[in-house]
Amino acid sequence: MFLENNLRPHHRRGWIEVVVGSMFSGKTEELIRRLKRAQFARLKVEIFKPQIDTRYDEQQVVSHDSNAIHSTPVPNSSNILLLASDTDVVGIDEAQFFDEGLIQVCAQLADNGVRVIVAGLDMDFRGKPFGPIPGLMATAEYVTKVHAICMLCGNLANHSHRISGGQALVELGEKDSYEPLCRDCFNEALAKEQENQE
Ligand code: ZN
Repeated sequence: MFLENNLRPHHRRGWIEVVVGSMFSGKTEELIRRLKRAQFARLKVEIFKPQIDTRYDEQQVVSHDSNAIHSTPVPNSSNILLLASDTDVVGIDEAQFFDEGLIQVCAQLADNGVRVIVAGLDMDFRGKPFGPIPGLMATAEYVTKVHAICMLCGNLANHSHRISGGQALVELGEKDSYEPLCRDCFNEALAKEQENQE
């Protein structure tokens, strides 16, 4: 009775879904799958990504298997609130590259009745939590971790190991710069690199 009395039948309900994983884990494919289903249901869908991610196409969320969906690049998270008015579902790709303000932006959208689906890398190439993702995982209703396959042993991989390039966190992930590794193989690879540095 208590719960029923508190339900607001005409109030549109929003929530936050987060899909995270390493490089090659299929998180963008999962984001696209959910967004396409929303489009089939004739919901109004808007998709955003950080302007920094210009790997393939300015206007598209493009996953590695080229199953693309139209998106709008924005310079920072506050732009999403301005552009997402009158939307049923908001998708956000490469969320790890957004500022911390993204956590509040997603909360406000969900409070306003929007279904928010966020995809991003949970860890950077050092294995540290990446940007606003930890805060998003904590405040989301639903969190999905997807896994790649370890390039060295075939177990489930949760790390993105950098095999070339510098130390910049915003360096964009391409197939030739990263490999998915499991915990054990990632730790071994880092130990080996440290040995080589000494
Ligand atoms: Zn492994």
